[in-house]
Amino acid sequence: MSYLRTITNLVGVSLVATAAFTSFAAPLEGVASGTHRYAASGIDATERKPIEPAAAQDQAAPVLPTETTVFGGTAEQREIATWAVQRFEDAGLDVPALDIHLHQDLADCKGNRGIYNSGLQRIDVCVDQRNVVLHEIAHAWSHENLSAAQRSEYVTVGGFGSWDDPDTPWSNKGSEDAADTIAWALLDEPITMFSADGPIARRAAAYLLLTGDHAPRISA
Ligand SMILES: [Zn+2]
Repeated sequence: MSYLRTITNLVGVSLVATAAFTSFAAPLEGVASGTHRYAASGIDATERKPIEPAAAQDQAAPVLPTETTVFGGTAEQREIATWAVQRFEDAGLDVPALDIHLHQDLADCKGNRGIYNSGLQRIDVCVDQRNVVLHEIAHAWSHENLSAAQRSEYVTVGGFGSWDDPDTPWSNKGSEDAADTIAWALLDEPITMFSADGPIARRAAAYLLLTGDHAPRISA
């Protein structure tokens, strides 16, 4: 009952009062604020890996994976990666086939905790943190599933500098906030929304905007 009411509130927030969650770009509580940087250097490597122009791809066309495979890593890292892929599937979010490479040394991720390479559909993760794996897979989901119009809307509603412009600071990119939002929503610790306009509600509204669905971890 409470759950249904929450959903009603969410829809109301998203459709009627977009201004109510314009601040979801701001640091949020818990996971959202504590983990929005995955780069040990403070710079997410994703922004240094733009999609190659078509001409360049023709010259050395990468062979994209046809199924998701996990390479390397500790037993715990492999468990986390498998879990993360399953979380997307359980949430009904279609992720392209990925090569997921796991490492123990940040140097293998160019000093970052995680990297997504859209040209290769490859993720490298150098930590054993669930939210980091979810974040990088979320980049792959966004790359495949969000239209230009959807990205633009997310930037506008959230008040970001751009979706993924190299000149936009990492923390002001809509693409990074979107990946954080999806990672936040797919963590499997249930979270309760106490207020219809609090930080949890804003993150939930952002997830709704991206996916058209409700954040799986929100419980009654
Ligand atoms: Zn990122």
